[in-house]
Amino acid sequence: MIYFDHNATTPVMPEARQAWLEASEKFIGNPSSPHRIGSRAEAALTEAREKLATLLGCDALDIVWTSGATESNNTVLHHFAKNLDAKSEVWVSAIEHPCVLESTKHYFPGRHRLIPVTRAGVVDLDWLTHEMADARPGLVAIMAANNETGVLQPWREALAISRQWGVPFLCDAVQWLGKMPAHGLGECDFVSGCAHKFGGPKGVGFLKCPEKGRVHPLLVGGKQEEGRRAGTENVATVLSMMAALEVREAALAQREQESRTVWRDAFERRMLKCLPGSEIVGAGQRRLWNTVSAMMPEADSQQRWVVKLDKAGFAVSTGSACSTGREEPSHVLAGMNYSAGEAGRVLRFSSGWETTELDWNALAEGLMKVHQGIVKK
Ligand code: PLP
Repeated sequence: MIYFDHNATTPVMPEARQAWLEASEKFIGNPSSPHRIGSRAEAALTEAREKLATLLGCDALDIVWTSGATESNNTVLHHFAKNLDAKSEVWVSAIEHPCVLESTKHYFPGRHRLIPVTRAGVVDLDWLTHEMADARPGLVAIMAANNETGVLQPWREALAISRQWGVPFLCDAVQWLGKMPAHGLGECDFVSGCAHKFGGPKGVGFLKCPEKGRVHPLLVGGKQEEGRRAGTENVATVLSMMAALEVREAALAQREQESRTVWRDAFERRMLKCLPGSEIVGAGQRRLWNTVSAMMPEADSQQRWVVKLDKAGFAVSTGSACSTGREEPSHVLAGMNYSAGEAGRVLRFSSGWETTELDWNALAEGLMKVHQGIVKK
């Protein structure tokens, strides 16, 4: 199988696996224990915190280790539910991941607004500027890059608008990290990320939050993470995550994204030529180099494409992994004004750190074969 579903999760990089093996042998202690074995584990976490803070451009004390981005985002919404007065609203983009959207609905029922996006899948900054001049929400949340379309969001501009009015800003950077340089994200008040989207292990992530001690913990119990997240830290997975992120950042510093964009664009050109009626979702926008979201020709349903591509040896997706198996069309495509029928024809191909140009070529050929099969039927 050739794997084209990296936006759902990625295989673990050799460097990340190695870091996990070494750390789990070397750091056997509980980072909270008072003896030297505990202190060594604590020191390893501190070093990892400093590395991540340097990459993001923030203070090391702003970093809290979590079980992943779902927990990080829930922590932020929970924190504001405790902190804001009963009338304050939260504004989140209509294309956020369910772990932001659903926790917003959960903690702010009837007190949230969805920031609209354009047909091309970009958050509408004019709306934000205009609405913010009239009313001030207690929190704004806009992701850095969308998981379904790969469209990059104007998070820097949205942060500046929020700053202007003193509104805290959450950026879900899950799909950005490891694919685009992290630097600058640390400017946001809150940033969430997780390892398994950039070659690290599953079940580990982080939350960048303003400063020591100010976040209401979602998980209560011990005083780990300066009282911001109870539970013994998983030192080996944190070090493994950082090993993966450092490899990715080094590749990005060598401008790897430029050659990868060339591969993606060549694939898209080939697909559009060979599959009359197909369309790129978010065409013309700045998009992640790894993601192609494509509306297939009208002839067939997306499920049949996924099954046939699977048989042909390609793992692809119909949208975000979280919506797979659900009947409703993707909320992202609905937010972009795609009809249910159109959304039902959209496939997502997402490459990753180990994908080669040959893999993209093979996928283009696989699509053509499946299409020819359908046409013959
Ligand atoms: N945010 C985005 C944009 C995602 O794509 C995902 C995973 O699909 C998440 C959050 C959730 O991350 P995790 O799997 O670490 O909980």
